[in-house]
Parts: sequence; C-alpha cells; structure tokens
Amino acid sequence: MSRLNDLIGGEKCHEEVRRMRWPHGTDCPRCGSNKVVKRGRNYRHRACRRYTCRNRAKCFDDLTATIFMGRHPPLSVWFPLCT
Ligand SMILES: [Zn+2]
Repeated sequence: MSRLNDLIGGEKCHEEVRRMRWPHGTDCPRCGSNKVVKRGRNYRHRACRRYTCRNRAKCFDDLTATIFMGRHPPLSVWFPLCT
C-alpha cells in the first residue's frame, strides 16, 4: 500500500505520465523537436514540470496535449494508478 500512497501525492503521477509520453526523452508536443529546455515547475502544481521548446520558444508542461491537460489537480481522477 505504501507505493499506492506515494502515487496519490502527484509527483509519482507526473513521473508516470512523463515516462509514458517521453520514454526516450522530452520532446515538444507541438513540433516534435527534442530541443527542449526545462523551465522549473508549475507554480500552482509543483509536481508538474514546465519546458520551453527552442524551436518557437513555446512553453508546455507534462500535461500539454494529453487528456490530462488542464486537470491540475486531481490527476488521480484521470490516472487510474493514482486512485
Ligand atoms: Zn516545438
């Protein structure tokens, strides 16, 4: 159960999301470029990492262009592992 409890915190959910969508490294959801710079974390939702695409200087985060987008929090509603 301890692992399950860890998942509720949000950080683990985001790790899972990142692992699923970027198994070979972060790339831009808009143009597919892997020239991506980490930009810290979402100020309201600390588990959510933010990035900037160098191609067009556009920002995105862990959830941009996923079904989870705009659901901060609870990701758990959408992500069965987090319940
Ligand atoms: Zn891009």
